[in-house]
Amino acid sequence: MQLIMFGPPGAGKGTQSARLEERYGYKQLSTGDMLRELSKSGTELGNQLKEVLESGQLVSDDIMVSMIEQRIQQPDCKDGFILDGFPRTEAQTKALDTMLSKRGTTIDAVVVMEVDEDELFKRIENRAKEAGEGNARADDNAETLRKRLKVYHDETAPVLPFYVAKGVVKRIDGMAQMDDVTAAIEASLGLTGPSDERKAAPGM
Ligand code: AMP
Repeated sequence: MQLIMFGPPGAGKGTQSARLEERYGYKQLSTGDMLRELSKSGTELGNQLKEVLESGQLVSDDIMVSMIEQRIQQPDCKDGFILDGFPRTEAQTKALDTMLSKRGTTIDAVVVMEVDEDELFKRIENRAKEAGEGNARADDNAETLRKRLKVYHDETAPVLPFYVAKGVVKRIDGMAQMDDVTAAIEASLGLTGPSDERKAAPGM
């Protein structure tokens, strides 16, 4: 299964993607995590990325598209993948569609996590507190969240109609309890829980 987790920052995309990876083996591809890792490299590119991440703006489409194009070809994606944080612009969406068509595949579902904006501010505040001093993401604060939400509304949300037209969008109430959100996602995708084999060895 090839999925996109969609929704504003703090909606729970990462948490739910990780759960689906553990339960079904679809590889979670978090572009935010990949970029944070690269930003620590101490290289010129790393330093530039660090600045963009801290500002809450988007990294260029060219970088993002080539990162994902290389990543989905890796063997750990052969049983499926979950794009967590990609695509975020119309250009990324078109590029993804083209790269998948060339491989004779497509996106099976776009899971849209719907969460009230007040709740997003609370969650980001909690995420920063839990991570503690020095460990917190530099972009997990109310001011940057406001910018990230604006970017989400201006650049990312407009890609949804493309997937609505394909009939693959699943809207999920992201305000529910975490386990209920997972259950709702599984139901929307027709997934019925991990196989016995996977329960015995979830890291497979
Ligand atoms: P996230 O962890 O998904 O909230 O992403 C953190 C930051 O990484 C975003 O605010 C962007 O600066 C950058 N980023 C992640 N994914 C993308 C993407 N697909 N396109 C552009 N920038 C991205």
